[in-house]
Amino acid sequence: MNNTTAAPVTVIGLGLMGQALAGAFLKAGHPTTVWNRTAAKADRLVAEGAQSAPTVDAALKASPLAVICLTDYAAVHELLGADGVVPAGTTLVNLTSGDSAGAREAARWADRIGARYLDGAIMAVPPVIGTADAVILHSGPQEDFEAHRSTLEALGTVTHLGADHGLAALYDVAGLAMMWSVLNAWLQGTALLRTAGVDAATYAPFAQRIATGVAEWLPGYAEQIDSGSFPAEVSALETDARAMEHLIEESRALGVNAELPELFKAMADRAIAAGHGGEQYPVLIEEFGKPREND
Ligand code: NAP
Repeated sequence: MNNTTAAPVTVIGLGLMGQALAGAFLKAGHPTTVWNRTAAKADRLVAEGAQSAPTVDAALKASPLAVICLTDYAAVHELLGADGVVPAGTTLVNLTSGDSAGAREAARWADRIGARYLDGAIMAVPPVIGTADAVILHSGPQEDFEAHRSTLEALGTVTHLGADHGLAALYDVAGLAMMWSVLNAWLQGTALLRTAGVDAATYAPFAQRIATGVAEWLPGYAEQIDSGSFPAEVSALETDARAMEHLIEESRALGVNAELPELFKAMADRAIAAGHGGEQYPVLIEEFGKPREND
C-alpha cells in the first residue's frame, strides 16, 4: 500500500525486531525515519524508502510518534535519558521487553520530560510482524493509544490493555508462564510414554486434546478465583493430590524426572495443610499469590 497521508513514524533501534517494525511501517505506507546505534543496520530499510536520521535527536524530531525497540530498558534510559533529547509532546511507544516496574518508571520519566508514553510487549517473532498473527500489547493512557492506533495497526493485531503502564509487561510474563507450563507438562508426559516406546509424535495429538480441554475450564475457574469461593463442583483438591502422587510414583518407577509433579504436589500439600483439601483446584491461587516461605 502506498498511502501518502499515512502518519509519519520514527523507529529507534534496528535489531532483528526493530528492522521488522520499520519494514512493516514502510510497507503500510508510513513515512518512516529510522535510527540505530550501528548505522549500517539502516541500509536495507533506506533502500526500501526509509529516512535514516544522523542522530537520535533528529530521528525523534522527524515524527510525533517514535517506536523504540532496544535490548532492554537500561539501553532506553542510556539513549534517551539525557535532558532535551525527546521533544516535548512526542509520543514514545516502548516495545522493548521489560518488567512492570520498569514500564511504570519509564512512564514517570516520560512525564517528567513532557513526553507521552505507551508501553508495549511484542508477542511475536520478527517474520510475522506486519501480519495479523503478530500480537502486540499496549498499556498506558487510552487516548494516546487511540491517537496512534491506526499507525500501530501496521505492526499486527494491537490491543490496549488499560491505563496502568505495567500491564503489557505483566501480560507478557503471564503468557510466558502459560507457554512454559503447557510445554513442560507435555514433555513430562512424552518422557513417560517414551519408556513404553510411544514416540512424541504419537502422543502429541492426545496431549493437544487434553490441553485444549483443560483450557475450556479457565473461565469457570476464574469466576471461583474472583469470587473467592471454591466449592468442589467437579473434584476436591485432596483427590487431585492423590492423582499427583501416582504421577510422581510412576515417574520415579520408570526412571523419569519427577521434579515437576513434585512441585505440583508440594503446593497442593501446603493448601491441604491450610485446610483447603475439600475445595476445588483454583484454591491454589492462594499459594501462587504469595512468595514461598523463606524466599
Ligand atoms: P537485537 O537484534 O539484539 O537488537 C538490539 C537493539 O538494541 C539493536 O538495535 C542495538 O543496537 C540496540 N541497543 C542495545 N543497547 C543499546 C544502547 N545502549 N544504545 C543504543 N542502542 C542499543 O534484539 P531484538 O531481537 O531486535 O530485540 C529487541 C527487543 O524486542 C528486546 O527487548 C526483545 O526482548 C524484544 N522482542 C524480540 C523478539 C524477537 O523474536 N527478536 C520477540 C519479542 C520481543 P546495535 O545494533 O547498535 O547493537
